[in-house]
Amino acid sequence: MPDQLATLSQSSLQDYHDCPRRFELRYLRRLAYPAIETEPALENEKHQQEGEYFHRLVQQHLIGIPAEQIGKLANTDNLQRWWENYMNASDLRVLTSSPKGKEPGGLHAETTLSAPLGKFRLVAKYDLIAIDNEKIVIYDWKTYRKRPRNEWLAIRWQTRVYRALLVQAGAHLNGGKPIAPEQIEMIYWFADFPNDPARFIYKADQFKRDCDALTKLADEITNASSGSTTLTTGFPKTDQAAKCNYCPYRSYCNRGIRAGDVLDAELETEAEELFDINFEQIGEIAF
Ligand code: SF4
Repeated sequence: MPDQLATLSQSSLQDYHDCPRRFELRYLRRLAYPAIETEPALENEKHQQEGEYFHRLVQQHLIGIPAEQIGKLANTDNLQRWWENYMNASDLRVLTSSPKGKEPGGLHAETTLSAPLGKFRLVAKYDLIAIDNEKIVIYDWKTYRKRPRNEWLAIRWQTRVYRALLVQAGAHLNGGKPIAPEQIEMIYWFADFPNDPARFIYKADQFKRDCDALTKLADEITNASSGSTTLTTGFPKTDQAAKCNYCPYRSYCNRGIRAGDVLDAELETEAEELFDINFEQIGEIAF
Protein backbone atom coordinates (compact mmCIF):
# COMPACT_ATOMS: atom_id res chain seq x y z
CA MET A 1 0.00 0.00 0.00
CA PRO A 2 1.60 3.29 -1.04
CA ASP A 3 2.12 5.84 1.73
CA GLN A 4 0.11 8.50 -0.01
CA LEU A 5 -3.01 6.40 0.28
CA ALA A 6 -2.89 6.67 4.06
CA THR A 7 -5.49 9.44 4.09
CA LEU A 8 -9.05 9.29 2.85
CA SER A 9 -11.29 12.33 2.65
CA GLN A 10 -14.80 13.04 1.48
CA SER A 11 -13.33 14.12 -1.88
CA SER A 12 -11.29 10.98 -2.44
CA LEU A 13 -14.18 8.78 -1.35
CA GLN A 14 -16.49 10.66 -3.69
CA ASP A 15 -13.99 10.17 -6.50
CA TYR A 16 -13.81 6.45 -5.75
CA HIS A 17 -17.59 6.27 -5.67
CA ASP A 18 -17.96 8.21 -8.94
CA CYS A 19 -15.14 6.45 -10.77
CA PRO A 20 -12.57 4.06 -9.26
CA ARG A 21 -10.20 4.84 -12.13
CA ARG A 22 -10.25 8.55 -11.30
CA PHE A 23 -9.45 7.69 -7.68
CA GLU A 24 -6.48 5.66 -8.81
CA LEU A 25 -5.17 8.31 -11.19
CA ARG A 26 -5.59 11.17 -8.75
CA TYR A 27 -4.70 9.65 -5.39
CA LEU A 28 -2.61 6.55 -6.10
CA ARG A 29 -0.67 7.64 -9.15
CA ARG A 30 -0.93 11.33 -8.37
CA LEU A 31 -1.08 12.27 -12.04
CA ALA A 32 -1.09 15.92 -12.91
CA TYR A 33 -4.34 17.03 -14.52
CA PRO A 34 -3.83 16.60 -18.26
CA ALA A 35 -7.07 18.35 -19.30
CA ILE A 36 -9.03 21.27 -18.03
CA GLU A 37 -12.05 20.21 -16.05
CA THR A 38 -14.60 22.68 -17.33
CA GLU A 39 -15.16 25.49 -19.80
CA PRO A 40 -14.61 28.40 -19.66
CA ALA A 41 -11.44 27.52 -17.75
CA LEU A 42 -10.24 30.98 -16.72
CA GLU A 43 -13.58 32.13 -15.48
CA ASN A 44 -13.97 28.93 -13.52
CA GLU A 45 -10.55 29.30 -11.93
CA LYS A 46 -11.34 32.88 -10.90
CA HIS A 47 -14.60 31.76 -9.36
CA GLN A 48 -12.81 29.04 -7.40
CA GLN A 49 -10.24 31.51 -6.10
CA GLU A 50 -12.95 33.91 -5.04
CA GLY A 51 -14.71 31.03 -3.28
CA GLU A 52 -11.55 30.21 -1.33
CA TYR A 53 -11.08 33.86 -0.44
CA PHE A 54 -14.67 34.10 0.76
CA HIS A 55 -14.02 31.18 3.12
CA ARG A 56 -11.09 33.10 4.56
CA LEU A 57 -13.15 36.24 5.07
CA VAL A 58 -15.80 34.31 6.97
CA GLN A 59 -13.20 32.54 9.05
CA GLN A 60 -11.64 35.89 10.01
CA HIS A 61 -15.04 37.17 11.02
CA LEU A 62 -15.74 34.11 13.13
CA ILE A 63 -12.55 34.52 15.10
CA GLY A 64 -13.56 38.06 16.01
CA ILE A 65 -12.24 40.49 13.41
CA PRO A 66 -14.83 43.27 12.96
CA ALA A 67 -17.13 42.90 9.97
CA GLU A 68 -16.48 46.48 8.77
CA GLN A 69 -12.78 45.67 8.49
CA ILE A 70 -13.36 42.42 6.62
CA GLY A 71 -16.00 43.94 4.34
CA LYS A 72 -13.33 46.21 2.86
CA LEU A 73 -11.45 43.13 1.65
CA ALA A 74 -14.43 41.91 -0.36
CA ASN A 75 -13.09 43.64 -3.44
CA THR A 76 -14.79 41.90 -6.38
CA ASP A 77 -18.46 41.85 -7.38
CA ASN A 78 -18.85 38.24 -6.31
CA LEU A 79 -17.08 38.75 -2.99
CA GLN A 80 -19.08 41.84 -2.20
CA ARG A 81 -22.36 40.11 -2.93
CA TRP A 82 -21.44 36.99 -0.97
CA TRP A 83 -20.23 39.02 1.98
CA GLU A 84 -23.41 41.08 2.09
CA ASN A 85 -25.49 37.94 1.80
CA TYR A 86 -23.52 36.38 4.65
CA MET A 87 -23.99 39.37 6.91
CA ASN A 88 -27.72 39.67 6.13
CA ALA A 89 -28.74 36.01 6.04
CA SER A 90 -31.44 35.30 8.59
CA ASP A 91 -30.25 31.71 8.94
CA LEU A 92 -26.82 32.95 10.00
CA ARG A 93 -28.04 35.66 12.36
CA VAL A 94 -26.89 33.57 15.31
CA LEU A 95 -23.33 33.91 13.97
CA THR A 96 -23.41 37.46 12.65
CA SER A 97 -25.68 39.31 15.07
CA SER A 98 -22.84 40.72 17.19
CA PRO A 99 -19.42 41.93 16.08
CA LYS A 100 -17.79 38.81 17.47
CA GLY A 101 -20.53 36.40 16.54
CA LYS A 102 -21.38 34.09 19.39
CA GLU A 103 -19.16 33.11 22.27
CA PRO A 104 -15.91 32.10 20.53
CA GLY A 105 -15.65 29.00 22.76
CA GLY A 106 -18.61 27.46 20.96
CA LEU A 107 -17.35 28.20 17.47
CA HIS A 108 -14.72 26.05 15.84
CA ALA A 109 -13.87 27.52 12.44
CA GLU A 110 -11.62 25.68 9.97
CA THR A 111 -11.40 22.65 12.23
CA THR A 112 -9.96 19.32 11.14
CA LEU A 113 -11.08 15.99 12.57
CA SER A 114 -9.62 12.59 11.91
CA ALA A 115 -10.18 8.95 12.82
CA PRO A 116 -8.57 5.68 11.75
CA LEU A 117 -10.65 3.82 9.18
CA GLY A 118 -9.38 0.35 8.35
CA LYS A 119 -5.86 0.87 7.04
CA PHE A 120 -6.51 4.54 6.43
CA ARG A 121 -6.97 7.76 8.26
CA LEU A 122 -10.27 9.49 7.50
CA VAL A 123 -9.86 13.26 7.56
CA ALA A 124 -12.32 16.12 7.18
CA LYS A 125 -11.81 19.85 7.34
CA TYR A 126 -14.91 21.70 8.54
CA ASP A 127 -15.70 25.31 7.68
CA LEU A 128 -17.40 25.72 11.05
CA ILE A 129 -18.63 23.58 13.91
CA ALA A 130 -20.89 25.62 16.19
CA ILE A 131 -21.71 24.17 19.60
CA ASP A 132 -24.56 25.61 21.63
CA ASN A 133 -25.38 23.44 24.64
CA GLU A 134 -26.78 20.20 23.27
CA LYS A 135 -27.07 21.35 19.68
CA ILE A 136 -24.11 21.05 17.32
CA VAL A 137 -24.27 22.55 13.84
CA ILE A 138 -21.83 21.86 11.03
CA TYR A 139 -21.77 24.78 8.59
CA ASP A 140 -20.34 24.46 5.12
CA TRP A 141 -20.09 27.54 2.91
CA LYS A 142 -20.77 26.96 -0.79
CA THR A 143 -20.25 29.45 -3.60
CA TYR A 144 -21.95 27.38 -6.28
CA ARG A 145 -23.55 29.27 -9.15
CA LYS A 146 -26.33 26.71 -9.23
CA ARG A 147 -28.24 25.58 -6.12
CA PRO A 148 -27.94 21.78 -5.96
CA ARG A 149 -30.94 19.66 -5.06
CA ASN A 150 -31.21 18.49 -1.47
CA GLU A 151 -31.53 14.89 -2.65
CA TRP A 152 -28.16 15.20 -4.40
CA LEU A 153 -26.52 16.69 -1.33
CA ALA A 154 -28.01 14.10 1.01
CA ILE A 155 -26.16 11.24 -0.64
CA ARG A 156 -22.84 13.05 -1.14
CA TRP A 157 -19.96 11.62 0.82
CA GLN A 158 -19.33 15.03 2.33
CA THR A 159 -22.72 14.99 4.07
CA ARG A 160 -22.17 11.45 5.33
CA VAL A 161 -18.51 11.77 6.32
CA TYR A 162 -18.80 15.13 8.10
CA ARG A 163 -21.61 14.05 10.37
CA ALA A 164 -20.21 10.57 11.09
CA LEU A 165 -16.72 11.84 11.81
CA LEU A 166 -18.03 14.50 14.17
CA VAL A 167 -19.80 11.81 16.22
CA GLN A 168 -16.74 9.62 16.13
CA ALA A 169 -13.98 12.11 16.77
CA GLY A 170 -15.49 15.39 17.99
CA ALA A 171 -15.89 14.82 21.74
CA HIS A 172 -12.91 17.02 22.57
CA LEU A 173 -14.79 19.97 21.01
CA ASN A 174 -17.75 19.16 23.26
CA GLY A 175 -15.97 19.45 26.59
CA GLY A 176 -14.96 15.78 26.41
CA LYS A 177 -18.57 14.57 26.26
CA PRO A 178 -19.49 12.06 23.54
CA ILE A 179 -21.60 13.50 20.73
CA ALA A 180 -24.86 11.74 19.87
CA PRO A 181 -25.95 11.74 16.20
CA GLU A 182 -29.25 13.40 17.18
CA GLN A 183 -27.37 16.47 18.44
CA ILE A 184 -26.01 17.17 14.96
CA GLU A 185 -27.37 19.21 12.09
CA MET A 186 -25.39 19.94 8.94
CA ILE A 187 -26.16 23.14 7.05
CA TYR A 188 -24.92 23.95 3.58
CA TRP A 189 -25.21 27.70 3.21
CA PHE A 190 -25.08 28.98 -0.37
CA ALA A 191 -23.56 32.41 -0.76
CA ASP A 192 -25.62 33.09 -3.90
CA PHE A 193 -28.81 31.59 -2.46
CA PRO A 194 -28.61 32.99 1.07
CA ASN A 195 -32.21 32.26 2.08
CA ASP A 196 -32.27 28.70 0.86
CA PRO A 197 -29.77 26.68 2.90
CA ALA A 198 -29.86 22.88 2.87
CA ARG A 199 -30.27 21.30 6.30
CA PHE A 200 -29.57 17.71 7.26
CA ILE A 201 -30.26 16.30 10.70
CA TYR A 202 -28.69 13.04 11.83
CA LYS A 203 -29.89 9.90 13.56
CA ALA A 204 -28.30 6.86 15.19
CA ASP A 205 -29.38 4.49 12.42
CA GLN A 206 -27.91 6.81 9.77
CA PHE A 207 -24.67 6.96 11.74
CA LYS A 208 -24.48 3.17 11.87
CA ARG A 209 -25.20 2.93 8.16
CA ASP A 210 -22.52 5.51 7.37
CA CYS A 211 -19.94 3.75 9.56
CA ASP A 212 -20.69 0.41 7.90
CA ALA A 213 -20.49 1.98 4.44
CA LEU A 214 -17.21 3.73 5.23
CA THR A 215 -15.64 0.55 6.58
CA LYS A 216 -16.78 -1.39 3.52
CA LEU A 217 -15.43 1.25 1.17
CA ALA A 218 -12.06 1.36 2.93
CA ASP A 219 -11.78 -2.43 2.73
CA GLU A 220 -12.72 -2.34 -0.93
CA ILE A 221 -10.03 0.25 -1.69
CA THR A 222 -7.47 -1.77 0.26
CA ASN A 223 -8.29 -4.89 -1.71
CA ALA A 224 -8.32 -3.05 -5.03
CA SER A 225 -4.93 -1.52 -4.24
CA SER A 226 -3.29 -4.75 -3.22
CA GLY A 227 -4.56 -6.55 -6.32
CA SER A 228 -3.66 -3.74 -8.68
CA THR A 229 -0.53 -4.12 -10.71
CA THR A 230 -1.61 -2.22 -13.81
CA LEU A 231 -3.98 0.61 -14.54
CA THR A 232 -6.70 -1.75 -15.66
CA THR A 233 -7.01 -3.94 -12.58
CA GLY A 234 -8.70 -3.05 -9.34
CA PHE A 235 -9.92 0.40 -10.33
CA PRO A 236 -12.26 0.20 -13.35
CA LYS A 237 -13.53 3.13 -15.37
CA THR A 238 -17.01 4.31 -14.55
CA ASP A 239 -19.86 3.05 -16.71
CA GLN A 240 -21.51 6.47 -16.54
CA ALA A 241 -19.92 8.32 -19.43
CA ALA A 242 -21.49 11.60 -18.20
CA LYS A 243 -19.06 11.55 -15.26
CA CYS A 244 -16.23 11.94 -17.78
CA ASN A 245 -17.47 15.25 -19.20
CA TYR A 246 -15.78 17.30 -16.48
CA CYS A 247 -13.06 14.81 -15.52
CA PRO A 248 -9.48 16.02 -16.03
CA TYR A 249 -8.35 12.52 -17.01
CA ARG A 250 -10.52 12.26 -20.12
CA SER A 251 -7.51 11.97 -22.42
CA TYR A 252 -6.10 9.03 -20.42
CA CYS A 253 -9.32 7.18 -20.79
CA ASN A 254 -10.30 8.11 -24.34
CA ARG A 255 -13.47 9.65 -22.99
CA GLY A 256 -13.46 12.82 -25.07
CA ILE A 257 -11.42 15.99 -25.21
CA ARG A 258 -14.04 18.70 -24.82
CA ALA A 259 -14.54 20.01 -21.31
CA GLY A 260 -18.03 19.95 -19.79
CA ASP A 261 -20.24 22.93 -19.04
CA VAL A 262 -19.08 24.89 -16.03
CA LEU A 263 -22.41 25.18 -14.23
CA ASP A 264 -23.20 21.50 -14.43
CA ALA A 265 -19.68 20.45 -13.62
CA GLU A 266 -19.06 22.80 -10.73
CA LEU A 267 -20.89 20.65 -8.24
CA GLU A 268 -19.05 17.53 -9.27
CA THR A 269 -15.52 18.82 -9.42
CA GLU A 270 -15.21 20.44 -6.02
CA ALA A 271 -12.18 19.26 -4.09
CA GLU A 272 -11.26 20.31 -0.62
CA GLU A 273 -7.71 21.12 0.39
CA LEU A 274 -6.19 19.16 3.23
CA PHE A 275 -2.99 21.06 3.62
CA ASP A 276 -1.18 22.14 6.72
CA ILE A 277 -2.77 19.55 8.91
CA ASN A 278 -0.90 18.78 12.10
CA PHE A 279 -1.98 15.22 12.76
CA GLU A 280 -0.28 15.17 16.14
CA GLN A 281 -2.92 17.59 17.40
CA ILE A 282 -5.89 15.56 16.25
CA GLY A 283 -7.35 13.08 18.72
CA GLU A 284 -8.44 9.80 17.16
CA ILE A 285 -10.95 7.11 17.91
CA ALA A 286 -11.33 4.34 15.35
CA PHE A 287 -14.59 3.55 13.58
S1 SF4 B 1 -12.39 10.13 -17.78
FE1 SF4 B 1 -14.15 8.97 -17.03
S2 SF4 B 1 -13.38 6.87 -16.81
FE2 SF4 B 1 -11.57 8.22 -16.94
S3 SF4 B 1 -11.04 8.70 -14.83
FE3 SF4 B 1 -12.41 10.32 -15.56
S4 SF4 B 1 -14.46 9.69 -14.94
FE4 SF4 B 1 -13.15 7.90 -14.82
